[in-house]
Amino acid sequence: MHNAKAFSAASAQSPLAADSIPRREPTPSDVQIEILFCGICHSDLHQVRDEWHSVAPTVYPCVPGHEIVGRVTHVGSAVSQFKPGDLAAVGCLVDSDRECPQCRKDLENMCPNMTLTYNSPDKHGTAPVTYGGYSDSIVVDEHFVLSVPENLELAGVAPLLCAGITTYSPMKRFGVTTGQKVGVVGLGGLGHMGVKFAHAFGANTVVITTSEHKKEDALRLGANEVIISKNPAEMEKHAGTFDFILDTVSAKHDLDPYLHLLAGDGTLTLVGAPEEPISLSAFSLLFGRRRLAGSLIGGIAETQEMLDFCGKNNITADVEIVPIQQVNEAYDRLLKSDVKYRFCIDMASLKD
Ligand code: NAP
Ligand code: ZN
Repeated sequence: MHNAKAFSAASAQSPLAADSIPRREPTPSDVQIEILFCGICHSDLHQVRDEWHSVAPTVYPCVPGHEIVGRVTHVGSAVSQFKPGDLAAVGCLVDSDRECPQCRKDLENMCPNMTLTYNSPDKHGTAPVTYGGYSDSIVVDEHFVLSVPENLELAGVAPLLCAGITTYSPMKRFGVTTGQKVGVVGLGGLGHMGVKFAHAFGANTVVITTSEHKKEDALRLGANEVIISKNPAEMEKHAGTFDFILDTVSAKHDLDPYLHLLAGDGTLTLVGAPEEPISLSAFSLLFGRRRLAGSLIGGIAETQEMLDFCGKNNITADVEIVPIQQVNEAYDRLLKSDVKYRFCIDMASLKD
């Protein structure tokens, strides 16, 4: 065991502050990574403040962070895909049981025994729970380490590990393609990646936002059109026309206005994870036999596929780089939808 520098929260009410945490010595199948950048996901905020208490209570101290990129510093004797000096990335998963039907289908994100990058019981017993990427280093089993395309700007790659795969995976699954009308609800970290992917897949891409001032950015990011969801007349104009809608909203909201936008047989996939239950009318689904689905990140093979797709198509997240000392301020701004469009921590600041 060795110590790593990190930022952690001591309770749901505490700000994140400097801490020292244990990391295991690499086993033969482990890769040790010096973390260079870590994205700030709204899930980090939900977890740090224990907003998901009924589903995943937070164990403190909590070290969040699951959008990790860095450089390999050490590999175990059985590691074959990485060597010291390589770029490497880690997303929301660091382990799974690897033998259940889901794992056998490369769907580690659906494994009943998955180990999340933070706040999951630590199988290695290094600490009560796993500690995430707001840290200078991490040790992860090779199977859960991703290769990073060399041509992409690193800070913009970090958010692909959660915001990227979470939006890419359901669009792939529901066959988003040229000629379809695709909506992205909420233009934040996930939403702006959803726009980039829908555009790259050739869809007629529409941003559905509460923030009038994001209109120009939405078009620049690849949207063909923007709907201000607070304007009922604008919403009504698009009623019954969408093939697919991705809902990335982080706060409680009514689904009916968005389901109303779907064409017959259209699908709305929820990826946003508000703390409170979401309401909808049965009729929103009955008419047009519309579908409501959910999706959680993606499997490891698909995450690599997404990163390679981004490498080929030059796709990265739009990031505002912040030192770790500003993480609490970044959380406050996230709650005001004041982010363009993902905060990313420059981990060099942890040395200050
Ligand atoms: P974010 O950057 O804060 O973006 C959320 C966006 O939702 C905001 O920018 C805002 O967009 C919109 N919004 C906020 N409050 C709203 C409200 N009351 N009504 C309507 N729209 C509202 O957050 P994020 O990092 O993208 O994460 C979004 C959600 O996805 C979080 O709940 C997070 O935990 C969850 N998540 C899920 C997965 C998964 O695997 N399923 C993975 C990562 C994150 P506008 O200003 O454009 O309206
Ligand atoms: Zn996330």
